[in-house]
This record gives sequence, structure tokens and C-alpha cells, in this order.
Amino acid sequence: MDTYRIDHPLVADRVQHFPESVIRDMSRVAAEHKAINLGQGFPDFDPPKEIMEAAKKAIDDGYNQYAVTWGAPQLRHAISSKLKAFNKIDTHPDQNIVVTCGATEAMMASLLATVDPGDEVVIFEPFYENFGPDAVVSGAKPVHVPLHEPEFQPDEELLKKAFHRGTKAVIVNTPGNPTGRVFTDPTLKLIADLCEENNALAVTDEIYEHMIYDGLHHTSIATLGDMHERTITICGFSKTYSVTGWRLAYTAAPKPITDAIKRVHDFLTVGAAHPLQIAAVAALELPSSYYDWLRDTYDKKRGILLSALEKAGFKCYRPNAAYYIMTDITDFGFEDDFAFAYWLTKEIGVTPVPGSSFFADKEKGKQMVRFAFPKKEETLNAAAERLAGTKEKAEARVKAEVA
Ligand code: GLN
Repeated sequence: MDTYRIDHPLVADRVQHFPESVIRDMSRVAAEHKAINLGQGFPDFDPPKEIMEAAKKAIDDGYNQYAVTWGAPQLRHAISSKLKAFNKIDTHPDQNIVVTCGATEAMMASLLATVDPGDEVVIFEPFYENFGPDAVVSGAKPVHVPLHEPEFQPDEELLKKAFHRGTKAVIVNTPGNPTGRVFTDPTLKLIADLCEENNALAVTDEIYEHMIYDGLHHTSIATLGDMHERTITICGFSKTYSVTGWRLAYTAAPKPITDAIKRVHDFLTVGAAHPLQIAAVAALELPSSYYDWLRDTYDKKRGILLSALEKAGFKCYRPNAAYYIMTDITDFGFEDDFAFAYWLTKEIGVTPVPGSSFFADKEKGKQMVRFAFPKKEETLNAAAERLAGTKEKAEARVKAEVA
């Protein structure tokens, strides 16, 4: 683990075991080389007008001081109604909901509130990069369960083996990043059964709940059996309403667990930006047609990027949810994912995220990179034009090396 070492006696040991985010670093690399950034997953288009107007109005209306630390009451009421209507989860706005600074804080606060140092937490691999440092900072001992391509569903026997009476929690991320897969209902049922048998908690990141294609549907694990008693459901505004910079998300959990999350959240951040919380109420009031539009436009973007990548010689693991495409780059003949991602940025002008950042065992992601498609069609088309030369340029590079 010495690769990440910051060599200074005043630095704490807990930060010596993970690097800064590779995903976020790639945005800096893309900017430096003026490449099209298909790395970090954020839209290059505006959020709905209604909610931008609502944010400006909230500032003019005087929502400029602290909100209630666990969320403005009107937002928690709106979230509670949304959880009932969409996720089929019953909550009380005062007892079960905490508004956080993004799903990033929601996950970290949830783990800090529930996991003691040394507790085992089951994490599917590949996983969203943050879950690694989340485990380190909370002191969790990660137990990784592989999701094998191309389906990226867990193997029943391996999953059963990962759980035992000492298991504290499992992190469930469906629809999943970076795989772009929804866990099937039997998979979720199996996870739920294992949580119940072993008295374990499920912490679920459902930030892509509205981006599901091919007629598939979203199931919140909290709705299965008695799972509402042992689930922290995390949903957010960033992806659904194209406001990743607003840093707004929330947890829904049983009252004692919510009380614990409230404490951590209170002392970590005091609270999320008040005027943006008021604007988020307007987001939750958008008509159901908004979600159909969202899914259909993302479905189209998926099609554009998939076809561009396949034409360019990438082996794609076709996603049916979220907004990422994992690819296999073995055929391009690069030593590893970082070398390829930097080369693609400089030579082709398109930036992906190196695949190893989604694995604890870096070897496993060494021949993978992830592309994100929350971009305007014109951006994706421009990326497609640039990507078209990938295979030839990569072959020329291999030939030059051999010569
Ligand atoms: N979830 C996004 C991604 O995976 C970005 C997350 C972030 O940088 N906070 O790219």
C-alpha cells in the first residue's frame, strides 16, 4: 500500500491507504489536453429550467442561512412522498430521512454511523471508486464478491460464502456503476435473505434509479421482506436532474439508524446548501413525463456511444442502466489501463476512466476503461469522430514499438 504514501510525520495513517479519486483526476487530465471528457460521469447540459429558476428564487426569497441540519422540512416531505410513490418505501419525514451533501456524503455518513473498525462489509467488485476509501475511513474490512462480465451478476455460491454471522453490512449499487447493470430480482432476493439470516445491514446506492433501459425496472431492496428494518436507501438529485455540482442526496432508514446518521452528518457538514434544497422540491414536482424523457434521451445517447466505441474496436459490455459503458481494451496492445487512458486523451482527444480504479485487485481492471455518456448528442458525435481512428493509431503504435 506504500504507493499511496504521503511521506510526512503529521499525516494520519488512515489516509495512507487510498489515493485521490482517479475519476476526478481524469477530469483534470482531460481539461489539460482539451480532450472530450467521457471520464467523470456528469452532464455537459443544463438541468431543467424550472429547477434553475427555483434555485435563483430561493436565494431571493431569503433561504440563505442554515437549514435544519438533516434537511429543510419541505424537502423531507417531498422526498418522503417520492419514496412512497416511486420506491414503495414508507418513511416519516422527521424520523427516517437525512438530506446530505451528495450520495458521497450519504454513503460515508452511513458507514461511519453503522460500521465499527474491523467490521466486515461485503462489496461487489467492480465497484464505484468511492466505496474503497469509504471502507478505509470507516474502518470496515471489505469482503469483495466478484461480478463477472458480461452479465455482472454475483455468483450465488460466492455470495453465500462472503456472508456469515459477523457480517455487518453489504453495499448494494443497483443500477450499478461502472457496470451499467441492474441486479435481477432473484439477486436482490438472495442478498436480502443473506442480510436477514446474518443480521446484516444493506446500504444501497440507488442514484441511477431513473436510468434503466430495455424495459427493465428498478427494485429498492428495502421493499423485500423485512428489509426496511435493515436497509439504508441512498438516492440523489445529481444524476436524475443533472445537478452534480449541487451536492444533494438523501438517506432513508429506520429511525435509530437515521438518528445515528443525523449525528455524523451534523458534525461532518452541518447541512446541505439551503437554497438548493428548496429548489430540489421543485425537482421532485416535475411531471412523470420528465422521467420518460430522461430515460429515452439517455437510451439514445447510449446507442450513439456504443456504436462509436464498437466501430473504433472496443469490446463493450452493453449496459442496460446508468450512464456508463465498460470496455475491454486488450486488443489495443497497451501495457495497462492508465497508459491507454492517457494515450487516448492525448492522441485521440477523448478521455475515459482507467478500469482498475473500480477494483481492489488492480490487475483485474488493467485491460478495461469506462466511458460515460451523459453528454449532448453533439458532444457524443464529436467523440465518435475522434474515436474512429483509435484502432489504426493503436496498431501503428504497436508496429512502431516492434520496429
Ligand atoms: N459518479 C460519477 C462517476 O462515477 C462521478 C462521481 C464523482 O466524481 N463524485 O464518474
